[in-house]
Amino acid sequence: MKPKLEDTYQHKGLRRQLIQLLRDKGITDEAVLDAMNNIPRHFFLDSAFDKIAYEDRAFPIGEGQTISQPYTVAYQTQLLKVSKMEKVLEIGTGSMYQSTVLAEMGAKVYTIERQKKLYDQHSSYVFKMKYPNLKFFFGDGFEGLPAFQPYDKILITAAAPFIPPKLVQQLKVGGVMVLPVDEGENQRMLRLTKLQDGSLQEEAFEEFSFVPMLTGKNR
Ligand code: SAH
Repeated sequence: MKPKLEDTYQHKGLRRQLIQLLRDKGITDEAVLDAMNNIPRHFFLDSAFDKIAYEDRAFPIGEGQTISQPYTVAYQTQLLKVSKMEKVLEIGTGSMYQSTVLAEMGAKVYTIERQKKLYDQHSSYVFKMKYPNLKFFFGDGFEGLPAFQPYDKILITAAAPFIPPKLVQQLKVGGVMVLPVDEGENQRMLRLTKLQDGSLQEEAFEEFSFVPMLTGKNR
């Protein structure tokens, strides 16, 4: 079933409640909250989820993948400290919701997906005209996207087994990468800052549970 492309008063009301919930859970970045308040999350979900699209939950999006929980999207985006016009590489396009949040914040967004069926959905992306600053690629995120490097920011939205070295190479000096790294059952959210000598300054945050980051492409 296709998503319902109508943003009613009811949807808007539920979205405002979700934003309040995110504030209560500790999200403080107004630019992140504004962007999420402006984007109809139900447009990124099957119409079967229309009534529950604004619950703070992950939902299936096909191919065994999920759209991240709103709290997780807000948390990762806040850690990334995105500014307008910055070049951001996202690994794991999935439903396109997270990349839309980054595009709404004014970043130049490059997003990569390894599942062909999910990647193909970008051809009917509802906000194609609104966000010419968002570009979709089919590929393996472990390889990054050398053509447009270096990136100011890199965001991984799947559970990384380790810090992908090629992504570190493609990050600007002073650039920031946010990623969940495997620690058994769950993943620890890390924020890495690339220093002048190429080394990484590491900060560790809360634990989350993501679908795995897998190698290779899946046609
Ligand atoms: N950011 C997405 C979250 C999707 S879940 C959203 O807003 O909906 C994570 C996604 O990462 C899945 O779609 C999965 O197929 C993709 N993925 C996993 N490993 C990957 C890799 N190596 N390269 C690119 N995408 C990957």
